[in-house]
Amino acid sequence: MIYENTLEFAQKQDAADQLKNFREKFYFPRMHGREVVYFTGNSLGLQPKSTQDYVLNELEDWATFGVEGHFHARKPWLPYHEQFAEPVAKIVGALPEEIVVMNQLTVNLHLLMVSFYRPAKERYKILCEAKAFPSDQYALESQVKFHGYNPSDAIIEVAPRIGEHCIRHEDIVEAIEKNKDTIALILIGGVNYYTGQVFDMSGITTAGHKVGAVVGFDLAHAAGNLKLQLHDWNVDFACWCTYKYLNSGPGSVGGVFIHQQHLNKPDTLRFAGWWGHDKQTRFKMEKGFVPMPTAEAWQLSNAPVLSMSAHKAAVDIFDEAGIDALVNKAEQLTGYLEFIIDSINVERELSARQNGYLEIITPRDKKQRGCQLSIIAHGKGKELFNKLIKAGVISDWREPNVIRCAPVPLYNSFEDIFRFGEILKNSL
Ligand SMILES: *Cc1c(COP(=O)(O)O)cnc(C)c1O
Repeated sequence: MIYENTLEFAQKQDAADQLKNFREKFYFPRMHGREVVYFTGNSLGLQPKSTQDYVLNELEDWATFGVEGHFHARKPWLPYHEQFAEPVAKIVGALPEEIVVMNQLTVNLHLLMVSFYRPAKERYKILCEAKAFPSDQYALESQVKFHGYNPSDAIIEVAPRIGEHCIRHEDIVEAIEKNKDTIALILIGGVNYYTGQVFDMSGITTAGHKVGAVVGFDLAHAAGNLKLQLHDWNVDFACWCTYKYLNSGPGSVGGVFIHQQHLNKPDTLRFAGWWGHDKQTRFKMEKGFVPMPTAEAWQLSNAPVLSMSAHKAAVDIFDEAGIDALVNKAEQLTGYLEFIIDSINVERELSARQNGYLEIITPRDKKQRGCQLSIIAHGKGKELFNKLIKAGVISDWREPNVIRCAPVPLYNSFEDIFRFGEILKNSL
């Protein structure tokens, strides 16, 4: 696509966009009498207009049926979670039996590590990306300590080279090979939250398996953002939250993938609860845990229906749009944002690292990014970000000087990006 920095061009693209009607399905915050430019769908996705009805239906059914809602609600609560397996499997490239929706992300990360981080004498280390999201760092650190190891010895971090922002795939593979006898688990974010870099999950999984390690991914910034093929890539396990790209509301229920090869193995160690027990005999309330043959074996508790109903509203929209169409539009939107930022530098005759120069630290290679660009505005502190907010742009600030922008394909438009460019230029 050949981009142009004009309102006409942006509006023409929007008019031709197959997904243009999806914008109408979401509530946009408003400022100065108009919708804001919302570029933080990577942090908290917008609310679908349908969510209220989905949640209210459950409240009504609770009022009407009381406990009988487990059987008689319009969507019975007893098997409520089961309706996610198929559509969520499509979003992350999995088989339905490999998916379960439960708890929240960090909780799930711990539960999965109980099963899949099984350190042994020589093989006890975890390899991760440097500067992973803090919750992941704490989870890894505490797991390692829980098993009696010292994090500074047992956690191997792969960092960007000096002077670079992103981590090179070859450096990850080299670190795996260098530690081939001691790595028990590789746990990396599918997309780094700070730089927006997408890791080669298939390549990392292959390299990890070659040395005998288990490979898992935190997909907080990947689920609903990228075309994933977790099953075909042979990823061992993954988990994600649903309030970022998946628009399921603040703190909503999390998602989990466990590869088919790990299912239906009675000897798998896990922390168990009654909702992971065989459905046929669950209510006999007997001793002796009999796990379900699917990823549901990892469930502990009965479904949190209110938060799941918000997730259902969002998943139905995803299912209608289709992940392929979304990823295709995301590539065009992100490319347009990149073009607009580059053209601001050109227009203002700024070259690299000069005061005001906008440096994109997210990879330029489309395969290594989703719909987030992280920008360093050289010489500009938080006052630039504050000016953007005042002018009606909601983006995201990360210390010391990074602005993260995520134009998401479900509800952002080319015109949003054009408007952002104009506001950014005026704010510099
Ligand atoms: C957003 C995010 C989290 C948040 O964890 P919660 O348990 O949902 O609060 C964790 N890890 C990563 C990589 C994230 O991006």
